[in-house]
Amino acid sequence: MSFVRCLECPKCHATYQATEVHNLCQCGSPLLVRYDLERLGQAVNKEDLRGRRADLWRYWEFLPLELEENIVSLGEGFTPIFTANNLGRELGFKHLYIKDEGLNPTGTFKARGAAVGVSKAQELGIKAIAMPTAGNAGGAWSSYGAKAGMEMTIAMPVDAPDLAKKECVVSGARTYLVKGLISDAGKIIAQGVKKYGWFDASTLKEPYRIEGKKTMGLEIAEQFDWQLPDAVLYPTGGGVGIIGIWKALQELQAIGWIKGTLPKMISVQAEGCSPIVRAFQAGKKESEFFQGAQTIAGGIRVPKALGDFLVLESIYASGGTAVSVSDEEIKAAVQQVARTEGMFICPEGAAAIAGAQKLLNSGFLKPEERVVVLNTGSGLKYPELVELDLPVLEKEAEI
Ligand SMILES: *Cc1c(COP(=O)(O)O)cnc(C)c1O
Ligand SMILES: [Zn+2]
Repeated sequence: MSFVRCLECPKCHATYQATEVHNLCQCGSPLLVRYDLERLGQAVNKEDLRGRRADLWRYWEFLPLELEENIVSLGEGFTPIFTANNLGRELGFKHLYIKDEGLNPTGTFKARGAAVGVSKAQELGIKAIAMPTAGNAGGAWSSYGAKAGMEMTIAMPVDAPDLAKKECVVSGARTYLVKGLISDAGKIIAQGVKKYGWFDASTLKEPYRIEGKKTMGLEIAEQFDWQLPDAVLYPTGGGVGIIGIWKALQELQAIGWIKGTLPKMISVQAEGCSPIVRAFQAGKKESEFFQGAQTIAGGIRVPKALGDFLVLESIYASGGTAVSVSDEEIKAAVQQVARTEGMFICPEGAAAIAGAQKLLNSGFLKPEERVVVLNTGSGLKYPELVELDLPVLEKEAEI
């Protein structure tokens, strides 16, 4: 049994039945899962969570499955939040935290979206899934799809990280490389979807990936003992993570589990692909396609996100901001976090760290504020990020 009421369009407010397969609203907007929050709030309380399984399925009541037997799990979620005192001292923060999504199966937080997305697809009787990806979503969905016994078709930019390609190949997904961006891969997948009847699991084209990523927000609240931090920084590509965290916080607020002001939601992008930052600076409600997108942080190289208006809404509503950082700042942050905290983080997470530094310098963030940075993936997925120039010794050499 679930507490799902319906699927709802955040743009035109049309509603759809969650027992049927749906992609976008007829108006073209992504759909959001709406719950009967009153009933949900009566059915469970905070204390019930203690002792539950240490993955994202501990928040069962906030998730869209009807039957537990449909769960497809590889152990995703409930990642630790580390106090980053060494790094905080260097940057000038008194209370800096890093939530390490690199510890998820497949090495990124994409596992959350894939776990809930594939589980729900299984419950709805879907047998074949197709999607474009910058790399990490493909790896995650291929893995969960393999576990569920589904036929997976993935298309990604030819310059996506090798490891992401290998994850798709090793788990048996039909994998295509596209001479272009994720947006070009998306157009090719859309044709295949029409032709072969595959289920289109592109970012935000199905409603359940957000529900998986929403659990990051539920975890932040629970792990901070329901006393929310002042700011959450998120490296933003398609925006599912930031939309999901914001959705979680609003659901928790609605059932009274959290009180007071919500954290400032902060979107961090790369200078070479910053459509959300541009839109925010212009005070716009939607972004425009970012021409010539280029950055080493492939997961946030999304020139135009379908859910851009939801990302911007969360930023405006929370009093947050959007900021961009250069590839040089990203590379420097990878090194700095590894050197001070022993964490080899992904370039996207490093962008968020560099963003925090920038906002502290600009005075938007204050040294005493409690600041949470999402590291969305493991640096181990980006071995090419660190250049080697090491001394090679003779066997008898002394050092
Ligand atoms: C996909 C991805 C992002 C961007 O996530 P969105 O929720 O789509 O904005 C950030 N970091 C990594 C490592 C990713 O794979
Ligand atoms: Zn609509």
